[in-house]
Amino acid sequence: MKKNNPMWKCVLRAAVSALTAFAVGQAAHAQDAKIPVVAAENFYGDVVQQLGGDRVDVTSILSNPDQDPHLFEASPKTARALQHASLVVYNGADYDPWMTKLLAASKNDARKTLVTAELVGKKSGDNPHLWYDPATMPVVARAVSAALASADPAHKAAYDANLAKFLDSLKPIAGKVDALRSQYAHAPVTATEPVFGYMSDAIGLDMRNQRFQLAAMNDTEASASDIAAFERDLRERRVRVLIYNSQATEALTKRMLTLAQQSHVPTVSVTETQPAGKHYQQWMLAQLDALGNALAANNAGGANKGTAQ
Ligand SMILES: [Zn+2]
Repeated sequence: MKKNNPMWKCVLRAAVSALTAFAVGQAAHAQDAKIPVVAAENFYGDVVQQLGGDRVDVTSILSNPDQDPHLFEASPKTARALQHASLVVYNGADYDPWMTKLLAASKNDARKTLVTAELVGKKSGDNPHLWYDPATMPVVARAVSAALASADPAHKAAYDANLAKFLDSLKPIAGKVDALRSQYAHAPVTATEPVFGYMSDAIGLDMRNQRFQLAAMNDTEASASDIAAFERDLRERRVRVLIYNSQATEALTKRMLTLAQQSHVPTVSVTETQPAGKHYQQWMLAQLDALGNALAANNAGGANKGTAQ
């Protein structure tokens, strides 16, 4: 991987659409050596693993669903893994700003970098939880598959087959989103943090208290009036469900969870990071099922009765 290819450097800077020219690394990979890949977040790592099978050696940096990823600081171990990677996948849109710093600190012209935010046209300031948008993973998967095939053209047929299988495996998620939309579009809901925002939009839910959620994400103080509005929504049952991010917890979000329980507003727990033992597809489906159950449980009573129709 020491080969210095000025054309490749140029492609790297020209960013994301130029997936075609991943020429570097072809010679460097022995026929049976695995492609070293680093994913900043474990759901991207999982997707790379599903697409690469036994041809890839994947390291995921954020993999603990008990830690707040918005507060993550990179360690020297993280930097070392990046140094030897042929392919790096990270989220971008300010979700993992430490990645940009680490990559800048360990220059490697033979390293291909895929940034999800750039692939789906999102930028700093947009809701960074892009993997909750059902439209995102198909785009990421295609880009990853193309990068793997370029790095290891001898196995292109296998990567193509894995991609087809992966895209197929996402269909139940799209189907569940459609089903929820047809039943619950415009239902008012709220959340402690914007992690589920894109999925909520895809279902067509009316997501309330977004300023409060941004404050929780950024670890800043929500305003007194935003807190009061959130509490009123729960106490008066103006929302059908509270979506609770169990990875971004502080006294205030916990208070909202308690208030929801006391007010008999169903709650759905979601995580930023993929739980151990689940693939991306199973994780998303499980959360959609939980949401469906919570929405169904709140059909009876409450100020919002009938608003879903
Ligand atoms: Zn978050």
